[in-house]
Amino acid sequence: MTQVFQKRPKVSSIVHSDQWVWPCSMLIDLLEIKNHMPSYNPNSSLEDCIKWLPTPDGIYSVASTMASLKTPHPLVPWFELVWYSHNIPRMSFIFWLAIRGRLSMLDRVHLYNPRVGTLCVLCSSSPETHAHLFFECAYSKVIWSHLKDMCGRPWNGHSWPRFIVWAAQRWKGKSPSIVVKKLCLAVVVYYI
Ligand SMILES: [Zn+2]
Repeated sequence: MTQVFQKRPKVSSIVHSDQWVWPCSMLIDLLEIKNHMPSYNPNSSLEDCIKWLPTPDGIYSVASTMASLKTPHPLVPWFELVWYSHNIPRMSFIFWLAIRGRLSMLDRVHLYNPRVGTLCVLCSSSPETHAHLFFECAYSKVIWSHLKDMCGRPWNGHSWPRFIVWAAQRWKGKSPSIVVKKLCLAVVVYYI
């Protein structure tokens, strides 16, 4: 038991004659380790070693850490609208946040700080939401109106989410004209 509580204990401290021998009185942390111990018995003839379980060879790598932390999710239909080989990362990132509705619009800020008003700072006529700022605001409509010929779609009467779905369905592939459309979309959202 005294061996287990020494400053630098080893696994061998709790191994005797190829059996796990746990101290009678254990700390809560030790109990948790005991509950997660493998069912096989130890081999006293082998040296203690450290193995990184996420990799088959037991050797640590940053890539395996990232892979083990990630939870797989299905691809969203607008994936290629945001992430593509010629994208501008900082603009794609802002565009991605806008699609997810995670930018700090005043309607969201107001939830955390009620002293902050919600009126759009560009037109002062409606609450500043993602849908308003990027699609409904008079300021944004002027910008979009200059791009409507390029996109082949009028802007009035269509919501921000519906436009994203529309663009994701049509702007597929790697042709220069498609890439330019996607770049313009990200640039407009970024600068608005
Ligand atoms: Zn506005």
